[in-house]
Amino acid sequence: MFGENHAHIFMNALDYRQAVKDHEKAPDEKLIREHLKAYQEKNVSFVRDGGDYLRVSQRAREIAPEYGIDYRTPVFAIHKKGHYGGIVGRAFETMKEYTALVREVKREGGDFIKIMTTGIMDFDTDGSITGTALSFEEVREMVHIAHEEGFSVMSHTNGAKAVKEAAMAGVDSIEHGNYADEEAVKIMAEQGTIWVPTITVVKNLIGKGRFSDQVLLQIWEKGKTNIRKGYEAGVELALGSDAGAYLVPHGQGILDEWACFKEILGDKEDLKERLLRGECLIREKFRKV
Ligand SMILES: [Zn+2]
Repeated sequence: MFGENHAHIFMNALDYRQAVKDHEKAPDEKLIREHLKAYQEKNVSFVRDGGDYLRVSQRAREIAPEYGIDYRTPVFAIHKKGHYGGIVGRAFETMKEYTALVREVKREGGDFIKIMTTGIMDFDTDGSITGTALSFEEVREMVHIAHEEGFSVMSHTNGAKAVKEAAMAGVDSIEHGNYADEEAVKIMAEQGTIWVPTITVVKNLIGKGRFSDQVLLQIWEKGKTNIRKGYEAGVELALGSDAGAYLVPHGQGILDEWACFKEILGDKEDLKERLLRGECLIREKFRKV
């Protein structure tokens, strides 16, 4: 079975506010155990968390071995103040503050650094990307600082230009990567960037009535095309579902992501092998220094 290369154990796949309430005072161990059990039941023995600011993933890592799970966490994600990322992490304003956060992750025993370089798709309107992306220079410096401290970098990034820039800046994995284009895919392949599309987040929302299906279908179609291009270009692809996000349950999420990949690339004989190779790279790189 595949591992889950992008999850947020603190979220419950239904209600973000409730999740915050549940863990606000202290990580709720009962809920963490329920989610870990969900992975165990699906034979998922590797989970890479995308972080949270309530230290829930940090606690999960301590308990995970009881469930036979190798758990990795960045502790919290890091975003620039005024930009997207507050839901899973902490903010910096200056590079000095960023460096201090990276060192805090190190002191707390984090396995890698998670950064946010762009917003998310705005499902409420036309599916465009919210907010403004960080500049190439900023991202490059952030990656450099994290690498200097011996960490790999997991980057939440959407949009063709931002994906190109993050890959050029040397991030080790790109998460989501919605709206990538041919050039962005080519650069990821050249740079050896691991791409975790988390496409099931979009697929699971279709037909549920919460957002416009027209917008969702358009993102799903573009995602399918890009994943095919990524496969053809030799990008290191890995499965991650963003489990914990709305309608993406822990455990089941990664099966859903695998189903999406089979639907998109099912005719490729080496698909499983390719995805396991991407995951293997993640396991090697995204570990405590
Ligand atoms: Zn995430």
